Amino acid sequence: MTYQNFTVETDSDGIALVTWDMPDKSMNVFTEEVMVELDTIIDAVVADDAIKGAVITSGKATFSGGADLTMLNAMFARIHEEKANNPEGAARILFDQVGRMSGLFRKLETSGKPWVSAINGVCMGGAFEMSLACHGRVAADSGSVKMALPEVKVGIFPGAGGTQRVPRLTGQQEALMMMTTGQNLTPKKAKSMGLIHEIAAPEKLIETAKQMIRDGLKPVQPWDVKGFKLPGGPVWSPQGAQLWPAVSATLRKQSYGNYPAAFAILKCVFEGLQVPFDTGLRIEQRYFTEILQTPEAYAMVRSLFVSLQELGKGARRPAGVEKTKFTKVGVIGAGFMGAGIAYSTAKAGIPVVLIDRDQEAADKGKAHSLDLVTAAVKKGRMSQEQADQLLALITPSSDYNALEGAELVIEAVFEDRGIKKIVTEATEAVLKPGAVFASNTSTLPITGLAENSKRPDDFVGIHFFSPVDRMMLVEIIMGEKTADKALAVALDYVQAIKKTPIVVNDTRGFYVNRCVMRYMTEAYSMVVEGIPPVMIENIAKMAGMPVGPLALNDEVAIDLSQKVNRATIADLGESAVDPRHVKLIDTMVDDHGRLGRKNGKGFYDYPDKPAKKHIWPGLKDLYPQQNADDIDVEEVKTRFLATIALEAARTMEEGIVTDPREADVGSILGFGFAPYTGGALSYIDGIGAREFVTMCDALALKHGDHFKPTPLLRDMAKNGETFYGRFGAGENIGQAA
Ligand code: NAD
Repeated sequence: MTYQNFTVETDSDGIALVTWDMPDKSMNVFTEEVMVELDTIIDAVVADDAIKGAVITSGKATFSGGADLTMLNAMFARIHEEKANNPEGAARILFDQVGRMSGLFRKLETSGKPWVSAINGVCMGGAFEMSLACHGRVAADSGSVKMALPEVKVGIFPGAGGTQRVPRLTGQQEALMMMTTGQNLTPKKAKSMGLIHEIAAPEKLIETAKQMIRDGLKPVQPWDVKGFKLPGGPVWSPQGAQLWPAVSATLRKQSYGNYPAAFAILKCVFEGLQVPFDTGLRIEQRYFTEILQTPEAYAMVRSLFVSLQELGKGARRPAGVEKTKFTKVGVIGAGFMGAGIAYSTAKAGIPVVLIDRDQEAADKGKAHSLDLVTAAVKKGRMSQEQADQLLALITPSSDYNALEGAELVIEAVFEDRGIKKIVTEATEAVLKPGAVFASNTSTLPITGLAENSKRPDDFVGIHFFSPVDRMMLVEIIMGEKTADKALAVALDYVQAIKKTPIVVNDTRGFYVNRCVMRYMTEAYSMVVEGIPPVMIENIAKMAGMPVGPLALNDEVAIDLSQKVNRATIADLGESAVDPRHVKLIDTMVDDHGRLGRKNGKGFYDYPDKPAKKHIWPGLKDLYPQQNADDIDVEEVKTRFLATIALEAARTMEEGIVTDPREADVGSILGFGFAPYTGGALSYIDGIGAREFVTMCDALALKHGDHFKPTPLLRDMAKNGETFYGRFGAGENIGQAA
């Protein structure tokens, strides 16, 4: 029998080697077709008396990425339609569909013949769940092997038996930690948790897996053996009594109840471990059906999986421009940002020339990479050989001639028009025709900077976020004259360094910083209104923001906020800023010398470790304080999310951002906008434009005109539209199912 996605070869010992290798795909994923074929293969293995057992592996460098979540996205749309006519029937269809994979894996593990999963590379989600259903699991001893059940990161959970098998193999606490965080496991860690049986040298992987079968591996899972005992003891035990109240409190503290899928994992494990295995699977199937119908699952799958992937693959890349293969990238300015950009570029295997005013400054920039790789080697995330290779790719220099031959040069020198002009001219003198020059400026319009260039069509903004090695988002800024070719080169570069690009038209603050400013200025208003600062910070986190606005301002630096205020007044006049905000910031900087984290004094105090940072006690003395009990917590949460969402809507209205996927993904990756909403525009779509407008009108009456809905929003409210519907990115199914 031949298959589209698998090959099956049986050796002389009667062991079938099932190799998963999907044609035309860089990574194996579970699709409907794959499930049908696997089902047939299981039947064939069982039916053939000559086959003793089977080893399943991958023909690609990775094992599998798990279920194809774009399938899920399409399913959301179908269920949404069905729900309108027949809500109960829709839930039933969903229930049956979600049980499909789980049923298939259960069939495999009760097939009566032993199966071994030979994990040769990244093994995620459904693929790891399939491996857990195999009677034996071997992973290759390689840095590229990672195993995880990461579903929670996109608003769902392991629904193909993961919540039942993992806590039957390892302690409940570790199982819960693994699934509620979606953490990656190295082979060593997975083995110590009892999730895999063996680790083998990559070239011996298949042989080791086969040997398990030859050695008489039993085709029965521990939980199917009479008298099975849970590794950490039953749920109702002294250990369980200590664990369970604490895990649910910890999860609430971490997630503020914003992520129903994380709580569903707790419920599946807690309930499932008290019943026989098959009943546990049924419980999991029920919760999975429920979670798939939440707005959080819908929004997170769309933004954090589908859109993220589409943007990463170059959804916005202009057609017809040949892909650039980078042989040399130049970075000018080896300071805070430039050093990080050089590191991220070299990490992708691209040679980098890192230039500063003198050799010493350039060397200092390279030393940043040395620090990062040293830490990575220490933590086992990188081998010494990889570290050495990365460092060898960075050439520090003060000589512009070293840039010769580069396809792209990115400047990250001081934020000063004059200096940027000198650097642009010096670089262009050595750049080959067609090479692209990019600026990492955070505040200067690209169109203006491009006036320094002899080839403004090859001039583009590539705006990184700090810390560069950890921030996954990059804004690509189009100047008025930036040509498609430069955009394509910038997108190719961002893809090469494995970050996610969004394309933004030129404007003050671009996209991310405009939204972030709203977050911080709303907090200034709250400080001035006398909302206790600790509440401001905590309520922002309750709304889903990862960092409070005052803590964030400390990181950015308060004197930078003062500079931005002054520049805004100089460029746009006094009315462009709220005088109460200017006074607050001036008081902080000029009267109290509070510049932010950098001088240990900002909205927070930063005592020496191990003491933790805490809100500066003097802050509450600046304004009369409201009584905490009088504060409407829900309104404060809404103010934060709504003011950011309104700014995102303005950028769409002004044509700064043109694709809702970019606004959403940019808001989550750029500044952590409440991920459970799916991003700043999905937040509005999820509420519905009409209701959002009503809500903002009410906020405007109480808290100021910046909450007034824009004409676009009013129009959308009138027509019952969504951003995804109106601006046509992908399918539009309106509000979440
Ligand atoms: P920085 O002060 O840490 O580094 C600037 C570097 O440029 C210094 O090493 C300096 O020696 C070098 N330099 C100055 N003049 C030069 C010249 N003529 N030739 C070569 N090198 C020269 O500054 P930074 O924070 O890294 O910021 C750099 C750029 O990145 C700015 O445009 C800034 O707006 C932008 N940016 C900063 C951040 C951030 O969080 N700091 C974020 C995004 C973008």
